[in-house]
Amino acid sequence: MSDKFDVIVIGGGPAGYVAAIRCAQLGLHTACVENWINKQGKPALGGTCLNVGCIPSKALLEASQRYYDAVNHFDDYGIEATSVRADVPKMIAQKDKIVQELTGGIEGLFKANKITWIQGTGSLLPEKHVEVTDQNNTKSTYSAEHVILATGSNSIEIPSAPLQGDIIVDSSGALDWESVPEKLCVIGAGVIGLELGSVWRRLGSEVVVLEAQDAFLPMVDDQIARESLKQFTKQGLDIKLGARVMASTVSGNKVNIQYTDKDGEQQLQVDRVIVAVGRRSNIDNLTLPETDLLIDERGLVHVNGACETNLPGVWAIGDLVRGPMLAHKGSEEGVAVAERIAGKHSHLNYDAIPSVIYTHPEISWVGKTEQQLKEEGVNYKKGVFPFMASGRAKAMQDTNGTVKILADADTDAVLGMHIVGAHSSELIGHGVLTLEFEGTIEDIAHTVFAHPTLSEAIHEAALGADGRAIHIPNRNR
Ligand code: FAD
Ligand code: NAD
Repeated sequence: MSDKFDVIVIGGGPAGYVAAIRCAQLGLHTACVENWINKQGKPALGGTCLNVGCIPSKALLEASQRYYDAVNHFDDYGIEATSVRADVPKMIAQKDKIVQELTGGIEGLFKANKITWIQGTGSLLPEKHVEVTDQNNTKSTYSAEHVILATGSNSIEIPSAPLQGDIIVDSSGALDWESVPEKLCVIGAGVIGLELGSVWRRLGSEVVVLEAQDAFLPMVDDQIARESLKQFTKQGLDIKLGARVMASTVSGNKVNIQYTDKDGEQQLQVDRVIVAVGRRSNIDNLTLPETDLLIDERGLVHVNGACETNLPGVWAIGDLVRGPMLAHKGSEEGVAVAERIAGKHSHLNYDAIPSVIYTHPEISWVGKTEQQLKEEGVNYKKGVFPFMASGRAKAMQDTNGTVKILADADTDAVLGMHIVGAHSSELIGHGVLTLEFEGTIEDIAHTVFAHPTLSEAIHEAALGADGRAIHIPNRNR
């Protein structure tokens, strides 16, 4: 194997593998160093996202929602489903099969693009040299004109709930349980807590979510967060805000949790715990101290707007750097960096990156929230349309939802779109395109949406911003 490359990418998650593929497409001799060992004990590409993140969590969200609907909602459609049973080990096996197929697919793409996969742990040395330590602890050194750091992130652990076997687990552990815990505590009401709490609630667990902050989903538009909390509570997720976990003790097959809230000290006994309190970038052993790579005060690799680190020819992308920890954000940074290395112009609009929480209903947003616009003193207008008034949502018998559009009152430019509702992860694409094309309320108003679709709710919300929605009374007229 050659030890000299145009580009070496360290990390083969959605940021790193996409960067490697785009570099190879642009004619650069590319290698990717990746150390992931999967559940089957084999090296795998795809990183957190494909192995223990986006994809496996969505596979279990899908399976658990179908089970939940079969038990609780089929009757609403006139379908009699008796003896419905969740075969949890089979769900896990199906999830594992999807993961294997997708990670194998990345391996195939590497071969097709002639990318060298160096299996092992990479460490950046001075002068763009990379030392790789393989599974047998053998070290090899490679060099490149450009190095892209993409080592991603890992779950944060907290001393008040140390991980223990399959009883107190992080998100990866909670994707592998083969039985449903009777009573489950989730620490952290963030994205992972809500998604994985929903999976196990649907499958039958009694779920208590302990969230340290007093606010629920503070990054989400307030109105949408309030509506979401109402839905989750109705579904039986017992979300306790302002709850700080002080200690957890495993006794037999139970966990005793001690936490404090506004009423003082509280006790909770559960069968299992998921710790979902955020993720930390993987910077340990990424470089030698003499490499002088700048790490910022939050433990992220410091980069400028173009993903350049302080070292010439060394770039960093994905969860390792500032910005939301999202797969699509990392992938687009990977593409942008590859194009910059190849001398092309590239563009990534950080103001138009969508976020989605894949609960039911799904919560999706892009752009500014109403509270942000108020804080910034922007003269804004808003349009809100409930799924209850959507013909398609009615036909689906899935009417819990709202679309909210925020726009500049002076220029008509759309500034934000916020949706809670079925399939909002797909609907939010309309908002992303509108922001990307610098579209206005008038642009959406002029657009013809198919009937009956959920996307008509976006059209109506836009019309509502100017007091001309058709299917609801307009309050501001
Ligand atoms: P990673 O995916 O973490 O990949 C980094 C890779 O680098 C890993 O394979 C790691 O083994 C490897 N590595 C680390 N150090 C070294 C080294 N020194 N040498 C060689 N290899 C190394 N995001 C979304 O956008 N949508 C979702 O639905 C979503 N769901 C999620 C669900 C869960 C349960 C979790 C945990 C995360 C989820 N995320 C989701 C977040 C998403 O997974 C991350 O934002 C994304 O994976 C980050 O990509 P990355 O390439 O930067 O890092
Ligand atoms: P998060 O930051 O979304 O939520 C963590 C929550 O835990 C916060 O609400 C925080 O206040 C709370 N918390 C922190 N310490 C606590 C403590 N000691 N006790 C109780 N609560 C505590 O983090 P996450 O849910 O772990 O997810 C990590 C990252 O992964 C996120 O940045 C997210 O972007 C990404 N992710 C994305 C998706 C998606 O796109 N659908 C899904 C999963 C994860």
